[in-house]
Amino acid sequence: MVSSPGRTCVACRAIRPKAELVRVHLVPGAGLGIDLGGGPGRGAYVCPAHPCLEQAVKRGELGRSLGVALQPIAVEELEGLIRERVSRKVASLLGLARRARKVVSGAEAVESAVKRHAARLVLTAADASASSVEKLRMLAVEAGVACYSSFGKEELGAAVGGAHRAYVAVTDPGFAEALISLLTKIPKKIEAGSGAQGETIDALGRAEPRRAWR
Ligand SMILES: [Zn+2]
Repeated sequence: MVSSPGRTCVACRAIRPKAELVRVHLVPGAGLGIDLGGGPGRGAYVCPAHPCLEQAVKRGELGRSLGVALQPIAVEELEGLIRERVSRKVASLLGLARRARKVVSGAEAVESAVKRHAARLVLTAADASASSVEKLRMLAVEAGVACYSSFGKEELGAAVGGAHRAYVAVTDPGFAEALISLLTKIPKKIEAGSGAQGETIDALGRAEPRRAWR
């Protein structure tokens, strides 16, 4: 992976590569914003994990790091902000990938891309048929392809330009890598043992896990 300077999570104080953390900053006149572009100004880094986000909000770590008195914000609101910001960026990247003809969609096309080792990233809709998703996920795991289930059919369809899409595969390693780094920023749900959602398998099929949460 690309090595980047480490940043400290304001909640758990762990030092991680910038790419693995969410940067929260202040948007003048609009309150907290999520910065995905490494913009200027003061920012606070936090792990995209519920316990860290909750602590950052409840204990006022974000405000302290940003050097301002923040209006109280619920952790759900912060998670919603992150999700919304990341989703928009994912949608625009998927749109670019589609225009570059690096996206296939539909169960058959995606399955075939995985089997041909052409798929670098598989996205299944959260509201797709559970058994079909499971089947595709197994194929992806076997092929060492990352598989995420962060969006609904409507969102996926809109992103790749069309009607509802339950299955999308990205066939370009560069686009896949950029998308995976965004997808890992979507806060995980809290349920214990929820390893299935957003489970990460290295996009290039390397055995070593990409995200080692220490
Ligand atoms: Zn943390």
